[in-house]
Amino acid sequence: MDAAPRRIRLLSSQLANQIAAGEVVERPASVLKELLENSIDAGADRIEVEVEKGGIGLIRVRDNGAGIHHEDLALAVSPHATSKVFHQNDLTRLVSLGFRGEALASIASVSRLSITTRREADEQGWRVEGSAGEVTPAAHPPGTTVEVRDLFFNTPGRRKFLRSESTEWGHLEQVFRRLALSRFEVGFSLMHNRRRILQVRSAAASDALERRIGEVTGRAFLKTSAVVDFSAAGLRLWGRVAGPEAARSQADLQYFYVNHRLVRDRLIGHALRQAHRDILPEGRHPGYVLFLELDPTQVDVNVHPTKHEVRFREARLIHDFLYRAVRDALEPDLSTLIPRVEQ
Ligand code: ADP
Ligand code: MG
Repeated sequence: MDAAPRRIRLLSSQLANQIAAGEVVERPASVLKELLENSIDAGADRIEVEVEKGGIGLIRVRDNGAGIHHEDLALAVSPHATSKVFHQNDLTRLVSLGFRGEALASIASVSRLSITTRREADEQGWRVEGSAGEVTPAAHPPGTTVEVRDLFFNTPGRRKFLRSESTEWGHLEQVFRRLALSRFEVGFSLMHNRRRILQVRSAAASDALERRIGEVTGRAFLKTSAVVDFSAAGLRLWGRVAGPEAARSQADLQYFYVNHRLVRDRLIGHALRQAHRDILPEGRHPGYVLFLELDPTQVDVNVHPTKHEVRFREARLIHDFLYRAVRDALEPDLSTLIPRVEQ
């Protein structure tokens, strides 16, 4: 650095977006997460994912959702542009997965991105390439296809941090499975290097949970897990938790959703570990697929750019509720000994 103070300048929008991308786009798996969330928010009930080279070469997500108005296409790839939040109030009762209006702008700044889309009511589809691209007519069925090629091709520093294709693929497949478990009413398919890896059909029937869990995690977990369905104080927890004899040597089967949003949260992790204390053999990890449902005003998801963390208004209540609900499923006989959550 020169000794003389440098003058201050505004960052170019490309550079500003690349810096912002550092928060959201860590690797191909994070791109996939954002694209899948967008397709779910668009109301799609069919989402097809194609990946090449572990996602470093290509991630293509095609959905049959609402599509984007062609006059909004250029905006979709601009930062702070969203169709999901208009007022400050909207932020306090989020029902959409997205709300930051950052993902597409970030991804576009560090890859070759294109969006092709058509709304049901439109006569033709439209396409835009990159954040400065022109919007041109293109053929497309109702819905949207987002293509992300050559991640980090223009940010060699970031690219160096990517691992091998097979490691990146592993992360990406994890994200796919986690999101595929989040909505049973949506069908998902995943191809890697032109091979079909997983396909799950949309299911609304009463056995949807069982079917989807079996398809995504394997049937062994289904056979060895207990059903959880517990409601109290305006909260509901449902899903499955592995019995002590089916505890795992790795923490690799832990799926937790808050209002169908995939989260990784310390408070939740702590409550679930506590619930397994004295039940799990030393060195074993709990396995679970659990859905917590509560009034969206009771939880703040605007805590971290990746939206993985959440903050509960009544953290203590949630903690005790989770503890009780899981404990109840694992050891029904014990439940009378456990302090009650207000019914
Ligand atoms: P956010 O999801 O936070 O709004 P994004 O950058 O992910 O921000 O997306 C910007 C906007 O582009 C969204 O608000 C939405 O209107 C539109 N969009 C993105 N992906 C899709 C999609 N698959 N289908 C329909 N609209 C989409
Ligand atoms: Mg989004």
